[in-house]
Amino acid sequence: MRILLVEDEKKIASFIERGLKAHRYVVDTAVDGETGLELAEVNSYDLIILDIMLPGKDGITVCKELRDQGLESPIMMLTAKSSVADKVHALHSGADDYLVKPFSFEEFTARVAALLRRTRKEKSSILEAGDIVLDQMTHKVKKADKEIALTPKEYSLLEYFMLHADQVITRTMISEHVWNEDFDSFSNIIDVFVNNLRSKLDSDRKKSCIQTVRGVGYTLKSKSG
Ligand code: CA
Repeated sequence: MRILLVEDEKKIASFIERGLKAHRYVVDTAVDGETGLELAEVNSYDLIILDIMLPGKDGITVCKELRDQGLESPIMMLTAKSSVADKVHALHSGADDYLVKPFSFEEFTARVAALLRRTRKEKSSILEAGDIVLDQMTHKVKKADKEIALTPKEYSLLEYFMLHADQVITRTMISEHVWNEDFDSFSNIIDVFVNNLRSKLDSDRKKSCIQTVRGVGYTLKSKSG
């Protein structure tokens, strides 16, 4: 899951960023409205978190412009203001949710998780593909009812595959949505992680649940066999 955070207050931005990364989200940060808008236009985000009071373009304007461009990703507004008029204004500009500062990190992450679930139009936190079951709330993964222990990165990678089951996933998509670090496309780090995942998930190496699409990337089959 890749999240864009647009917040000019450094302390709040780094607090949110650290917290989101600890929850295994990939985070890009912008400190003004113009940069935030540019990033949102160039990259695809699963969620955008927008502060309202920003230098340059304010959050309401950025939100409106993104919605006018047809952006459908959920947008959460952050603000120090708490009047009803401001809340209504934010929601009218196309935001999906609104959080008044200061807020507890628990409430913030719960709302983030709810917004990300809402985009998938599913209420459940359970993802299934073949006999693999992944719970996004508990981060537990089971294969044929047996619990599989995954590292945080392996978990994020599998979650990304399961959210896009049966689609071809390129290495670029994986590096953008699963990794915070940039690494060059010649790096074989993704292949190493995919192979680690396979060795934990596959009972039969010849019929891996994650198939290689030669020259392109990978695909996770939603039906086993
Ligand atoms: Ca601000």
